[in-house]
Amino acid sequence: MNRFTLPRDIYYGKDSLEVLKTLSGKKAIIVLGGGSMKRFGFVDKVLAYLKEAGIETQLFENVEPDPSVETVMAGAKAMREFEPDWIISMGGGSPIDAAKAMWVFYEYPDSKFEDLITPFSFPTLRTKAKFLAIPSTSGTATEVTAFSVITDYAKGIKYPLADFNITPDVAIVDPSLAETMPKTLTAHTGMDALTHAIEAYVSTLHTPFTDPLALKAIHMVFDYLPDSYNGDMNAREQMHYAQCLAGMAFSNALLGIVHSMAHKTGAAFSTGHIPHGCANAIYLPYVIKYNAKTAEARYADIARSIGITGTDAECVDALCKKIDEYNVKLNIPKTLKDFGINEEEFLQKVDTIAELAVGDACTGSNPRSITPAEMAELLKCCYYGTPVNF
Ligand code: FE
Repeated sequence: MNRFTLPRDIYYGKDSLEVLKTLSGKKAIIVLGGGSMKRFGFVDKVLAYLKEAGIETQLFENVEPDPSVETVMAGAKAMREFEPDWIISMGGGSPIDAAKAMWVFYEYPDSKFEDLITPFSFPTLRTKAKFLAIPSTSGTATEVTAFSVITDYAKGIKYPLADFNITPDVAIVDPSLAETMPKTLTAHTGMDALTHAIEAYVSTLHTPFTDPLALKAIHMVFDYLPDSYNGDMNAREQMHYAQCLAGMAFSNALLGIVHSMAHKTGAAFSTGHIPHGCANAIYLPYVIKYNAKTAEARYADIARSIGITGTDAECVDALCKKIDEYNVKLNIPKTLKDFGINEEEFLQKVDTIAELAVGDACTGSNPRSITPAEMAELLKCCYYGTPVNF
């Protein structure tokens, strides 16, 4: 038996935030990040709409980027004291991911973080509250996914939590919020969305339910990302929808080794963090070449859906070239070396990173299996820009 799960309602379009006026409930806790939503006036709007709906509100602010277990527990405590019947989270991926985990500990105060690590093992939620998510960036699509990433800083581990129980009930995909994204974030989150859609399309768990969402998202990213990056707000709006479609696909089809590599290299080097979407954008063409040995026809499908013609092999080549061209347009480097990772440090760490990447939760649904030795080779190709021919 298969399962395909999405939010019950997705409101989208300019000023769709207004739907909050019609929400029915008693109390809503609003989980927020660092303050940009407040600065741009969106928090005031949300509070005014909820007041109109007769809903009492309380803010839980300052969820940090890469939210910690401690923040999750503090939020759950605030929820237990306030007893909301709606959890509303607005912002980038971090506050929404944190709020999803808070929800579990609000409803199940006695559960332990360790209990949630096994994928698809959560207790039944919605006994106390429903969940509404409002994204401000166009990439993670956490507003429609079954995922949340929480960091245990004491152990130095990032936990990708996964369960359809934490797929939100309602998503509001209002492009006005995405208009506030800076240029570089627009590029990185946009390429993250493209990677979600491509990995979902070639995933071993792809289905007839996820394929059309993935293909449409890919099409839209290629059509709109460069203009969105250059400040065209109509294109920015389309990207906000494209990333959401990609999210619906990958929440149900899962991902692949581009994400495994990005997860394990993101914080691995002393020269600084590699932003998630930037890492994905760098690795994607190399991984396509590696995976094409077993998934050539699927990548050729993707290429043909965006107007590329030729044999399967020619289509895969042209698709990789197109991704390279987009990376150039978006000022994303071609290699880890160009990104600025130190060669000596890279070579010293590559075997350990390769092992960790193979063990990442996203490796299981990759279309071609990979050994730690092959992963190390692949990472070296991404470092030096050498062709993948194994
Ligand atoms: Fe991602």
